Amino acid sequence: MASTIIRVHDLHKKYGDFHAVKGISFEVMEGEIFGLLGPNGAGKSTTLEIIETLRTKTSGLVEVAGFNLDESPNEIKKIIGVQLQTAGYYPNLNLTELIALFSGLYNQKTDPVELLSLVNLTDKSKAKFKELSGGQKQRFAIATTLINHPRIIFLDEPTTGLDPQARRNLWELIQFIRAKGTTVIITTHYMDEAEVLCDRVAIIDAGKVIALDTPDALIDNLVATGFERPKQVKNANLEDVFINLTGHQLRSEN
Ligand code: ADP
Repeated sequence: MASTIIRVHDLHKKYGDFHAVKGISFEVMEGEIFGLLGPNGAGKSTTLEIIETLRTKTSGLVEVAGFNLDESPNEIKKIIGVQLQTAGYYPNLNLTELIALFSGLYNQKTDPVELLSLVNLTDKSKAKFKELSGGQKQRFAIATTLINHPRIIFLDEPTTGLDPQARRNLWELIQFIRAKGTTVIITTHYMDEAEVLCDRVAIIDAGKVIALDTPDALIDNLVATGFERPKQVKNANLEDVFINLTGHQLRSEN
């Protein structure tokens, strides 16, 4: 039985008079892909950034790997991988140089060749960040979260704006990272993404957790209420056509 690696209890965040997070509680188990799922404005990023030590909370308890956020934020920073703002990608440096720079900042020994190969960007090692496609940019951003060999990585809407192939490639990468033992916490407003990728999801709406379970259990519970989806008339959809025509394989422009 996996142990709890993140514990959030009765978390609140107010921006002035606006109550954005209204008593959120959940636990993330070590080694799982946990999703915070909800519409724009639900409070997902706020919750994530509080756990990442990037935003202050109004009240509530947050523990990461047994470290209390109020007492040991620096211990937490050491074991988590956070996506850097793209503004931090110095425009004159190529991908290899950027990884070397970040490794130095983190005081870590990281082999840029190995890391770029992990995220399938070997052939872009001498390219600048701005020269990458949307999917490549996201894969590079994920690579940067791995520089300090974290136990947990945080991904905030990593596939927003990507085409279907690039999304699927990113899902595979996230699953691969988890298979190597890293816990992943991800926010998304794509339901299909959460269904494919997440072991468990917390559905957040207007600052509250309104459901928390495995995608399968959430769907089974709905079906048990007598809910029935309108009958599917076709066995494929336009996305299937697109993927089938353009290929599943990772392409360099992704
Ligand atoms: P999500 O990630 O689910 O889209 P956010 O956590 O970004 O939601 O935002 C939750 C709510 O808090 C939104 O209504 C947003 O406008 C508000 N909000 C977020 N950041 C700030 C801020 N710095 N100041 C004021 N309101 C904010």
